[in-house]
Amino acid sequence: MRIVRFNGGRIGLVRGDDITDVTAEAGIDPTEFPPVGMVRLIADFPARRAALEAATGPALKLADVHLETPVPWPNKLIAFPVNYIDHRQEMGSTYVASTRGFFLKANSSLVGAGDAIIVPALPGREVHHECELALIIGREARNVSREDAWSCIFGYSCLMDITVRGTDIERVMRKSYDTFTPVGPWILTADDMPDPTQLDMKLWVNDELRQHANTRDLVLDIPGMIEMASSATTLYPGDVIATGTPAGVGPIAAGDTVTIEIEGVGRMSLPVVASAGGEDIAMWHQARPKAKAE
Ligand code: MN
Repeated sequence: MRIVRFNGGRIGLVRGDDITDVTAEAGIDPTEFPPVGMVRLIADFPARRAALEAATGPALKLADVHLETPVPWPNKLIAFPVNYIDHRQEMGSTYVASTRGFFLKANSSLVGAGDAIIVPALPGREVHHECELALIIGREARNVSREDAWSCIFGYSCLMDITVRGTDIERVMRKSYDTFTPVGPWILTADDMPDPTQLDMKLWVNDELRQHANTRDLVLDIPGMIEMASSATTLYPGDVIATGTPAGVGPIAAGDTVTIEIEGVGRMSLPVVASAGGEDIAMWHQARPKAKAE
């Protein structure tokens, strides 16, 4: 099953080139704030599944709708750094995810397949793409064993972990700008995923293939990531885990189009646009005169 969120919080099932609107069957008010309908749907999925599958209601063309990020208001957005050896080599990193652990990105950085990546006005800094498989958590879980880890996964999506480079600024800030975590174009539910440990993934900037890898090369594998994340923090339905990027990261700029494709999961292209400005405060503490009483 491919579950989409579209046109202002509506929920749909992708069937070929069409979307069947199942907002009513999902029990979601698209206008609610905070927009936690998808989190509730994932939590209630076993009870709602039959009604969703039986839905015959209005069909729309996928190409005609605005695709939104599937889970806009998760409890958290977890990300694993340096989880492919070739990316470790290109970054000159001294660690890998299996010994370093995870970090968090701001949930508000999530956008969907129908949105744009907005690059902040940060003179002299590069903004990079990272091509990643997203795990969408399906149930509350803590201290999960490797054996039980697969049962925690609701589904999979494509994810771009957009990043301002430079180690002088906190990683959380560099990766948390609005629009810096496109996820989509939908959630492929785990029961329809043949083998997530052997997925080809690609990312292009315009027509140039920048990243091409396979999830078999993950340093910390999918069960390992769930085991590690849940050893520190309770996982909740709808939590998103960014599994790390392979080599080939590079700069994006206004005017580019970034395309990600993960075998069996989906494909999405987002335009890159320039922000209206106002972000260049990273060096604020250095540029500002010292206060007298500091
Ligand atoms: Mn990343």
